[in-house]
Amino acid sequence: MPQNNKNKESKGRDFLYPKKPSGRLYTYRKWVSYVLLLLLFSCPFLKLNGEQWVLLNFIERKFVFFGLIFTPQDFYLFALAMLIFIIFIVCFTVVLGRLWCGWACPQTIFMEMVFRRIEFWIEGDNQKQRKLNAQPWNREKIFKKSAKHFIFLVISFAIANTFLAYLIGSEKLFSIITEPVRQHVSGFISIWIFTILFYVVFAYVREVVCTVICPYGRLQGVLLDNQSLIVAYDVNRGEPRGKIQKQNVDETKGDCVDCGLCVQVCPTGIDIRKGTQLECVNCTACIDACDEVMLKINKPERLIGFYNQDYISQQKPFKIGAKAYGYAAVLLVVLMVFSSLIYKRSSIETTVLRASGTLYQNRGTNQTSNLYNAELINKTNKTVKFEFRAKDQHDKIEFIQAANVLPKDGSAQITFFLIRNNNQIKEYKSDAEFEVVVDGKVLSQASTSFFAQPDNQ
Ligand code: SF4
Ligand code: SF4
Repeated sequence: MPQNNKNKESKGRDFLYPKKPSGRLYTYRKWVSYVLLLLLFSCPFLKLNGEQWVLLNFIERKFVFFGLIFTPQDFYLFALAMLIFIIFIVCFTVVLGRLWCGWACPQTIFMEMVFRRIEFWIEGDNQKQRKLNAQPWNREKIFKKSAKHFIFLVISFAIANTFLAYLIGSEKLFSIITEPVRQHVSGFISIWIFTILFYVVFAYVREVVCTVICPYGRLQGVLLDNQSLIVAYDVNRGEPRGKIQKQNVDETKGDCVDCGLCVQVCPTGIDIRKGTQLECVNCTACIDACDEVMLKINKPERLIGFYNQDYISQQKPFKIGAKAYGYAAVLLVVLMVFSSLIYKRSSIETTVLRASGTLYQNRGTNQTSNLYNAELINKTNKTVKFEFRAKDQHDKIEFIQAANVLPKDGSAQITFFLIRNNNQIKEYKSDAEFEVVVDGKVLSQASTSFFAQPDNQ
């Protein structure tokens, strides 16, 4: 049985044939992946308050997260949410290593839990796959390869549609699918471009995404420290490695029997016994494989397990390091800021600006007015009837362009004079405040400046 899972016959890139994993951790991974796949495929199609659970429409700059609608005016919130996500991943990595890659990243989940399992199902385990690839194009090979690639294409098509549902919305996607192609040529082309892209990634590029392309993988060297938990080989216990011999039992030998199973199951083709490597995605397949061997030879499990570097080199137990506490503190602060901004965020965004080229108008001897333009943006998913008014009851509004209805996902423009009694005007520049009232409740406020010559000057 070969010690590695690479195809040495091929020129250029060594195509990997990982052995089918099994074991307790693999079973847990399967369940985690079922939940994540269910979420991934349902978020753009399930609705809450009339909006899909998650929408990331960069083209129309509209984002929806579980009922909360973000417009371009909320870009700072979106940026903050992205920052929270990045700090969370960094914090998570410092403590738990690359667990995200092996257990939650969509690339790994689709590759190892969907495409690879279809391959095992149709072509068999790694040895059978090698044999099939090496054999001439007979009926069996044509049938198995066509069936596999057809299913890969169908799944890639489903992923491409789901991906587009996140980007353009499930309703628009439904129109592209159901209406004549000529009405949605660009949408139709996009579906097929993404289908081919996903197909190429999962059928051919595979682990190269994790080992070469993904920037997160490259960052590991910076993020991990000696206290980070990583999948590691307990070199003190395992070495010197060697095959078991029934006669002449060598007491000086370590627990590793050099069976090579940990290498054969590795989806990135590395030998974890050589130490921490950037290519390791912490999928834990080697832990399962080695535990099985240890059970068979009556040795304790976890010759390969979750360890930190300090444990491997100095037998120091795991403890969360200062770096992790630092990142966690930053994460907490940013989370608190984000929560308070979300709490204060109004469902109608109002901006009032003074009309350009105007200063103030005297209205007889008693009143002065300023001209303003206002824009109201509806961040709810329903049409809203509103009243726009001045906050100070002494101020009056004279509309030039009035509006009292905000369409769903839309906006309204208003042009008006704010008229103030001269006896209220104490200084040249003062505040002017406005309210947007819906069903008797003030839903939004805006303020700007009011200019006038005070009475006493
Ligand atoms: S070394 Fe182990 S944990 Fe790392 S990628 Fe390979 S099988 Fe997965
Ligand atoms: S699976 Fe365990 S025993 Fe076998 S080679 Fe790997 S570390 Fe050694």
